Amino acid sequence: MKNETGLIFLGAPGAGKGTQAQLLAEFLQVPHISTGEIFRNAIAQKTVLGLQARSYVDKGELVPDELILDLIRERLSQSDAQKGWILDGFPRNVSQASFLDELLCELNQSSDYVVNLEVPDEVLTTRLLLRGRKDDNEQTIRRRLQVYREQTAPVIDYYRDRGRLHSVDGDRLPEEVTESLKQIVISIPDRD
Ligand code: ADP
Repeated sequence: MKNETGLIFLGAPGAGKGTQAQLLAEFLQVPHISTGEIFRNAIAQKTVLGLQARSYVDKGELVPDELILDLIRERLSQSDAQKGWILDGFPRNVSQASFLDELLCELNQSSDYVVNLEVPDEVLTTRLLLRGRKDDNEQTIRRRLQVYREQTAPVIDYYRDRGRLHSVDGDRLPEEVTESLKQIVISIPDRD
């Protein structure tokens, strides 16, 4: 396994991205960068970003790109991100994906793999209702899944078209999913 590892996690709300990204980040010793978590913290602390993002997150809409692009640039420029990272929740639409490609080029970083956690729709809704986060009520869940299908699913095609997509069956026991993900990252070839 090489020294720097950049991984992008894709998957619908409830697919298990957050849990798996956290575990894999510990395994790889790289930061887990969750945009959803960044927004939730900002909202809880009532920062300017939080106040601006709140109504979108509460409704299950995507926060506008202008509130997130600079934030990603700053986060990936920090020293702990130079040895790799796992992005969870970004990119979430095609314009964020092409922004990220340019940014990584500019920062002389790269994403090694894009992993898509696949979980059937009916399983997603059940999981989200059981999870019970503040934005996990029935109406918001419905809207988040719709936004996912309309805006985020095309990101899967974006990476598939570029030959970078790895699909992983997320409808299994969490530890089985983790094992599959570890197999993928262990097989990442050295860049040099
Ligand atoms: P989930 O995977 O359950 O949708 P996240 O924690 O990834 O949860 O995101 C929660 C909310 O944060 C989203 O519904 C959206 O409002 C906002 N959000 C997170 N990442 C992005 C992003 N890259 N662009 C726009 N909005 C985002």
